[in-house]
Amino acid sequence: MSRRKIAVVTGASAGIGAATARALYAAGFEVVIGARRLDRLRDLAAEIDATACELDVTEDESVARFAAAFERVDLLVNNAGFSLGLAPVVESDPAEWAAMHDTNVVGVVRLIRALLPRLLESGDGHVINVGSIAGFEVYPGGGGYAGSKHALRALTRTLRLELLGQPVRVTEVCPGMTETEFSLVRFAGDEARAAAVYGGMTPLAADDVAECISWAATRPPHVNIDEIVVRPRDQAAAHAVHRDG
Ligand code: NAP
Repeated sequence: MSRRKIAVVTGASAGIGAATARALYAAGFEVVIGARRLDRLRDLAAEIDATACELDVTEDESVARFAAAFERVDLLVNNAGFSLGLAPVVESDPAEWAAMHDTNVVGVVRLIRALLPRLLESGDGHVINVGSIAGFEVYPGGGGYAGSKHALRALTRTLRLELLGQPVRVTEVCPGMTETEFSLVRFAGDEARAAAVYGGMTPLAADDVAECISWAATRPPHVNIDEIVVRPRDQAAAHAVHRDG
């Protein structure tokens, strides 16, 4: 008898992660969701019958508690991440670089270390990392964030080489501008500044990115989607955006 596959989604309390949890549930997965804001996870869990567990990807103990809350895993979506500020390198805060790197890169390593044995045991495992066009491109003020997403892309490609011959696929989904809480976090809660990011243009919605993740996750086991780069029609490069008016 076939069983429902288990998908684990990090950073599922908002934006792309929440949309991905919904999309994977709709595609037939049983979903486990993690993030720091448990109250938000509980609302989503009730909606899609998911298992919600507190998770801080920067804390070893938190990752260990999270990983102990479920048994099997078929799909790991490493989505938790953020950007802080838009300062030029010379004015930037090293603590912000370290925080972005710890969450966006080392956090992914922590989850892979915790869950890869079970992904292998599943016989058809899959790791999908949420990268960014900032893993391919740079822009003024984006040094720390682009540095972390370039590193994540290197990690993703390294993992795919290291797992060659084993039953785990490795994919990276790299969005451009997507309207979520991302800019609100980047600008420390400044709503006007966050809203201005999307002024006069049509960004991706979280659901657009979730659909890419769900599509990659539902290909047959022998098909590895290496990477998907998806951006709004109004964005030709990280800092080349068409705006009306
Ligand atoms: P978002 O709406 O701010 O969501 C970010 C999620 O990450 C939240 O659920 C947050 O939950 C979680 N998170 C942050 N730090 C965490 C930690 N230490 N441990 C666990 N969870 C953590 O932003 P988003 O746009 O959906 O971002 C999702 C991913 O897409 C990120 O990796 C981002 O870099 C990437 N991305 C976004 C865009 C864009 O334009 N929006 C473009 C390219 C790539 P808690 O705060 O509750 O922990």
